[in-house]
Amino acid sequence: MTNLNSPIFQSEDAAREHLEAQRWPDGAVCPHCGCVGDKHVTPIKGARARPSAAHPEGKERKGLYQCNGCRRQFTVTVGTVFERSKVPLHKWLLATYLLTSSKKGMSAHQLHRTIGVTYKTAWFMFHRIREAMKEDTSSSGPLGGEGKTVEADETYYGQVDNPRKTRTDGTPFKRSKRGRGPANKRAVVSLVERGGSVRSFHVKHATKASVREILVKNASRKSKLYTDESKLYTETGKEFAKHRTVHHASGEYVRGDVHSNTIENYFSVFKRGMRGIYQHCGEAHLQRYLTEFDFRYNRRSKLGFTDDDRHNELLKMIAGKRLTYRRPDQASFA
Ligand SMILES: [Zn+2]
Repeated sequence: MTNLNSPIFQSEDAAREHLEAQRWPDGAVCPHCGCVGDKHVTPIKGARARPSAAHPEGKERKGLYQCNGCRRQFTVTVGTVFERSKVPLHKWLLATYLLTSSKKGMSAHQLHRTIGVTYKTAWFMFHRIREAMKEDTSSSGPLGGEGKTVEADETYYGQVDNPRKTRTDGTPFKRSKRGRGPANKRAVVSLVERGGSVRSFHVKHATKASVREILVKNASRKSKLYTDESKLYTETGKEFAKHRTVHHASGEYVRGDVHSNTIENYFSVFKRGMRGIYQHCGEAHLQRYLTEFDFRYNRRSKLGFTDDDRHNELLKMIAGKRLTYRRPDQASFA
């Protein structure tokens, strides 16, 4: 069990060695050309950065490697969401540990106070970490499969940023027929495989078409699909091995093993976290928060993951993400 006093959260060297061990179990890998192994990659000792006021002789650059294939140099953070950051690596690891182990998430204010960086930096760090939390769904394949059950449901969280009270022609938006999901609320569609993973999507509007696209892209049609009575799933449900529904409107929540309690429970953790920790989430960021809650759910302790496992999994996922936040001063805050 990692203690918050662990050297990897106190010393930059220990943090770097820990990150190298997670990312490079078989030796340093060149991020430029993929060379790996002692023959191809050589550690560079005693390298120094350009002199600066704080370090007139140039700060020592530890953890630097030379690739003999492409002749370029690199460290363990090149090509990752930690790249080009002035925040020392042990603070990155602590931020990562805190976010991956806090059940309901953690606010940037809390991180700012806990690790001693500015609020702006803390905000930016957490969004980069959420970037790393994106699952590689192309390699994990669709949810469900033969004999497996996938629950699908939609929920609404917060107001859209610029709610138009009326359509451009002046007629008011209608509330949905189900009495939930008014037009100015942010819609979320989630799928969960029972005993497995969840995938959540912020959609502009939960419609038959948008729900179908999410379902057929992310769940195997050999699965049993369980939903509530919503008409969103009626047509698409026929494409699955089985489609069973419970009738929430008439008070029916469980009929044998037919229910959508797994996804409802997921939504309730998400909403409690969002209300408690992330009160003011800009709509543009909603998908990032969903990604964060998905990441933790998919590595929950029930599946055998410890806080350390979850942290180390994330450290393996920090490379190859599309970085939308290059620098904090270019990011928009919410
Ligand atoms: Zn190389």
